[in-house]
Amino acid sequence: MGSEIAALEPFVLSLSKHEDSRPYIKPEFCYAPSTVILIAEVPSLTYSCLCMTTVRDDFFRFVCQTSPEPMGIEVDHAHGCVVVDKTGKEYLDFLSGIGVASLGHAHPVVVQAVKAQAERYLHTMVYGEYIQEPQVHLARRLAEVTPDPFSVTYFTNSGTEAIEGALKTARKYTGRSRFVSFLDSFHGDTFGSLSVGGNSLYRTPFEPLLPTVTFLPFNDLEALTQIDETVAAVIIEPIQGEGGVRVPDPEFLPALRRRCHEVGALLIFDEVITGFGRTGKLFACEHWNVTPDILVLAKALGGGMPLGAFISTPEIMTILSTSPPLAHVTTFGGHPVCCAAGLASLNFMVETNLPQRAHEKGAELLARLQELAGSGGFIAARGRGLLIGMDFTTPEATKQFVQSCFASRLILGWTLHRDTVIRLAPPLIISSAEIDRAVTIMYQALRHNS
Ligand code: PLP
Repeated sequence: MGSEIAALEPFVLSLSKHEDSRPYIKPEFCYAPSTVILIAEVPSLTYSCLCMTTVRDDFFRFVCQTSPEPMGIEVDHAHGCVVVDKTGKEYLDFLSGIGVASLGHAHPVVVQAVKAQAERYLHTMVYGEYIQEPQVHLARRLAEVTPDPFSVTYFTNSGTEAIEGALKTARKYTGRSRFVSFLDSFHGDTFGSLSVGGNSLYRTPFEPLLPTVTFLPFNDLEALTQIDETVAAVIIEPIQGEGGVRVPDPEFLPALRRRCHEVGALLIFDEVITGFGRTGKLFACEHWNVTPDILVLAKALGGGMPLGAFISTPEIMTILSTSPPLAHVTTFGGHPVCCAAGLASLNFMVETNLPQRAHEKGAELLARLQELAGSGGFIAARGRGLLIGMDFTTPEATKQFVQSCFASRLILGWTLHRDTVIRLAPPLIISSAEIDRAVTIMYQALRHNS
């Protein structure tokens, strides 16, 4: 057998040859006739030849890549604030993938709800036709916990679909076509959502998009006069996430609310990232006592399952069921398993007052971060609750910091529109000990980069 292995060595080496810096093998090599002959002749090597492609190799080859440098953690399991890879390494998660795992990963109440519902029924009918308890119960609960006068929910599979639904609803309800959005905003990547996304870098490659969108500077009171009677809806994140965790001045959102009332435009709040306790209130709009006309939710809504929603009044939402009926439909939106998970997650969040915990732990984390400012290119931190932005001097310093922290197994997030800002969004169940561990890693990374 030894000589047979030696004879095969060149072949095995050629199989492992890299075409780029990543270790991968073209699968067709495995099925080449010569390989098959070798497999037949040396069974003990069959296994090694056929197993040359790892899951990591296949990830790069078969799964569409969205960036040149994915984090590439090979996930074995995740619980609480920790993601564990296949080698048993534990990563402390300060991103919650992204802003989803507010109860921590795989919270038992959510897992139990998923199991119980999966055993009863999965998909039975397109959205809106059958009466499915998990959907109804979650819609009712959302009506209870959102500000008045919200009471009717349309469920979707994701945030961007909920934005699409909200935009369509606003157009049909007002009979107007124009939208107003804000520079540096992010609302998702389907065509409508992208059209109201405030960064031309991401819009330009996909144009033409919706032609009737005006972008105003965020947090600029004077710019609000550009909202007039031609506007169907103004869409805004009450705190910009991808735009660099930007919190508006106290008077901005109330003034925006007044202006929309004056001109009859609907106000849409995109609370996809800020909703469900992340900023220290159940919904960020509560910080300003401003109630929009349509509230858009996703991410933490499903407790780790894919779920989005837009919520409004009966008067506004009823236009989706008439002239024509079925004007806006979805097959999987409001999937019963996702709604069961969402309901369990929301109930746990309210019963344990997680928004208050986010407020307290956020203040603790912010204070610790501010002590670190001034080294390694880190200037200052700001945010609300457990949605925190860290400002750096340069994109290089930002990247170096993220990489150093990652090497010490702390997962941090970037923002799409600001390459000098890091976004922190840990699970809301984060403990003081975990905050301490993260800050220690950050301190060492900043010292290392000074
Ligand atoms: N709106 C905001 C504020 C977001 O942060 C995101 C996603 O990051 C979206 C909308 C789109 O949500 P989804 O990725 O679920 O489509």
